[in-house]
Amino acid sequence: MSRRPSCCSYLPPLYVIRFPVKILLASPRGFCAGVNMAIECLDIALQRLGSPVYVYHEIVHNTYVVESFRDKGAVFVDALEDVPEGSNLLFSAHGVSPEIRQFARERKLYAIDATCPLVTKVHLEAVRFAREGYTILLIGHDGHDEVIGTMGEAPENMILVENENDVDNLEIDESAKLAYLTQTTLSVDDANRIISRIRERFPHVHNPPKEDICYATQNRQEAIRVLAPEADLILVVGSDNSSNSQRLRELGEECGRPAYLIDGVEQLDLEWLHDVETVVISAGASAPEAIVQQCISFLEQNFDATIEVRVIRNEEVHFQLPKELRNSPDDTASAVS
Ligand code: SF4
Repeated sequence: MSRRPSCCSYLPPLYVIRFPVKILLASPRGFCAGVNMAIECLDIALQRLGSPVYVYHEIVHNTYVVESFRDKGAVFVDALEDVPEGSNLLFSAHGVSPEIRQFARERKLYAIDATCPLVTKVHLEAVRFAREGYTILLIGHDGHDEVIGTMGEAPENMILVENENDVDNLEIDESAKLAYLTQTTLSVDDANRIISRIRERFPHVHNPPKEDICYATQNRQEAIRVLAPEADLILVVGSDNSSNSQRLRELGEECGRPAYLIDGVEQLDLEWLHDVETVVISAGASAPEAIVQQCISFLEQNFDATIEVRVIRNEEVHFQLPKELRNSPDDTASAVS
């Protein structure tokens, strides 16, 4: 027999008993160094250059962040043909292919590059492996902005593999020089399974010099893995198109817990809290802390909530701004003109 009434009883009137809920707030969660840097870039670009500043693709994959910048004068485009010649342009955190950079130059766009350095690292590895004659297996998700950009570094040499089946179906000369790289925001477990399959089929395959799945993705996944055993429910704040947020939700489910991805507090369904004593809250690397706090306030309004911050790992990573934005406002204007 449930100790609680059905969820609609949590709504007003106020005399309804508020049941206890323990919130375990995962740390680290939310913005990573690459997202912080990209957001700061766009903020400064709008301040110094005025609107519009065009952004190729979403600056980061988060609805709230994108809408906030739209209100400030950023214009998000998926094709450079939509950017008037001579305009100010920002490349998003996910990176772009050399073809897009070249096209921007041809259109005389004043481009600022907000690509996360950890994405750039994967691009450089692709370039090096391709130059040395390797066929490169890129483990990633088809259609993701980062994958499109990385594949564009060496399209003739790269093959996308999304799962173990793709590895089984590869038709590559067993003796060919072969290397693999990965998207930065994959599930660590999924990537390891795919890499193992690649190694089984191609024992001579070369790995990247340093792991490609970034520190932020790994740390947020580790926090979910550690906290899940204590949870009756896992809430991940993040947008549907955010790869690392989706992986956190999936990981929660793989740990045997109900797990939901919510873009905003309005998506938080009290029905999920029925019979829940402990809820873990985390957030993807592109999800703002403001949304996390709104979710906590909502739970506090409806439950007798206690909050414990659980620090699984400390993060002290910062990336410097691109050179066009590092110096004074005047330097920015001259660097892009
Ligand atoms: Fe960079 Fe990782 Fe953040 Fe992506 S998730 S922007 S690769 S630090």
